[in-house]
Amino acid sequence: MRYSRMLLPTLKESPSDADVISQKLMIRAGMIRKVAAGVYNLLPMGLRAVRKVEAIVREEMNRAGAQEVSMPMVIPAELWQESGRWDEYGKELLRIKDRHDREFCLGPTHEEVITDLVRREVRSYKDLPLNLYQIQSKFRDEIRPRFGLMRGREFVMKDAYSFHATAESLDAEYENMYNAYTRIFERCGLDFRAVEAETGSIGGRFSHEFTVLAESGEDAVATCTGCSYAANVERAEIREPALSAPSAGSAIERVSTPGKKTIEEVSAFLKAGTDKLIKTLIYETDKGLIAALVRGDSQINEFKLRNASGSSFVKLAEEDAVRKTTGAPVGFAGPVKLNIPIYADFNVRGMFDAITGANENDAHLLHVNASRDFRATYADIRNAAQGDKCPRCAGVFEIKRGIEVGHVFKLGTKYSEAMGANFLDEAGKEQVVIMGCYGIGIGRTAAASIEQNHDEAGIIWPKPLAPFDCEVLPVNVKDDETRKTSEALYEVLKKEMEVLLDDRDERAGVKFKDADLIGIPVRVTIGERNLKQGLVEIKERKTGEVKLVKVEEAALEVKKLLQS
Ligand code: ATP
Ligand code: MG
Repeated sequence: MRYSRMLLPTLKESPSDADVISQKLMIRAGMIRKVAAGVYNLLPMGLRAVRKVEAIVREEMNRAGAQEVSMPMVIPAELWQESGRWDEYGKELLRIKDRHDREFCLGPTHEEVITDLVRREVRSYKDLPLNLYQIQSKFRDEIRPRFGLMRGREFVMKDAYSFHATAESLDAEYENMYNAYTRIFERCGLDFRAVEAETGSIGGRFSHEFTVLAESGEDAVATCTGCSYAANVERAEIREPALSAPSAGSAIERVSTPGKKTIEEVSAFLKAGTDKLIKTLIYETDKGLIAALVRGDSQINEFKLRNASGSSFVKLAEEDAVRKTTGAPVGFAGPVKLNIPIYADFNVRGMFDAITGANENDAHLLHVNASRDFRATYADIRNAAQGDKCPRCAGVFEIKRGIEVGHVFKLGTKYSEAMGANFLDEAGKEQVVIMGCYGIGIGRTAAASIEQNHDEAGIIWPKPLAPFDCEVLPVNVKDDETRKTSEALYEVLKKEMEVLLDDRDERAGVKFKDADLIGIPVRVTIGERNLKQGLVEIKERKTGEVKLVKVEEAALEVKKLLQS
């Protein structure tokens, strides 16, 4: 490709609205341009990198025995109503209507569509197992689209779904996918961890997130200091601490806290640490309202709360419901004399002399004692934090940041049961198909690679993801000899690899800066001075190592470097 013909608008400065390095560099290196929040154009350079990730993913999925299909992005509401997710999914689901007023959504994920396909086409155990995947655009109306391709609203995902007659068959495929994912991210040159995502109440290892370790990551991962346990903080099981509150203590005292609703406001107003507060949130569930309590310095985990309370969904209650149950506006709820089921985190069990809402406008209670003043079901309902105890060994958690690039998941019969995806077993008996699902964020993986591979000058593409293998850079295209040699080398290299020829009539400084910014692994610089001695310069972007080689040997040297 000739640089002069390419849409490759590089920028000297980072755009002011870019927050993370990969996003800044993707914009500066002319890879992406924003169309709307979380919606991007991929320019040629961006598409090339993304296609490299796609190719690796496709190759490894095919090698693992999965079959590629293509499903529509526009999905009729009926399918989502059948699974129950039309009502559950919330605002991330972009709902649209056609000209006949029929409802559809833009697919944020495709369990419903694939299950519908399989229930129509699969009859017998002989048709199973089956693993179908696609690499396709998803739409999720994310609450905070940001970080460029890392958290877009429209983004490309590889999503795979497997179908099985037996649980053992699913286990085997899960392992097969786990291994394929390991190969994929290894081939992408990423430093990653397979992190346990969902264990706990259901038991067994049935979900792993593949997480690239990076400071800018939005996910916090709890890793044990004592064993290999690693889990997303939202999912990490916490060993119950040995805590209990004394049965006696000071009597409860009511204090006026006008307008102080949040934990921070109350903590500042009453001059007490947030760890002295009990946070009380009212949730709506399929079984009615419940209260959830955590210490003021921790985060309620709705997934754990759902499990602990045995609900099929939990959702923060509306202002009206809170008022009716607690007798106070949002911000003043507390467990004392509250007449709904209370679920409290293990850490609340040991709290005494604590501060809670008074279930009364503008008032809080002091000296609340967990063992004396309210009854609660104690469970693990918060996110793991630094220093929490590991469930597997005597170690404690360290919290590291990471980017979730992939997810493997044993779905079981959630969708097949709801949608009636059955098969006939060997005995001719109807059984429900067992499912697994496996996702990879394609653009997010490319971005995560930049997070791990860059320097002040720009991107340092690992060879397998580089948009081009080699860049040929004639220093001065007005010099005949330089131009001829460059063109000749370009033609030779082009036969065996992807080459970018910077044939622009630009100052050398500009070209070098752009080359470092776009970060092609190998660069051949062709300048008048070296040429007089029959030499060209070969530079590796990653190491900065420079070699002078004979013109005739340049192509071979480039190939050697790319293979090393
Ligand atoms: P997150 O917790 O980051 O929102 P998720 O759990 O919603 O991710 P999945 O539903 O498991 O993600 O989707 C599979 C993969 O798709 C993720 O591992 C991630 O790589 C990618 N992905 C998810 N949401 C986005 C997004 N908004 N932008 C880009 N990639 C995404
Ligand atoms: Mg998400």
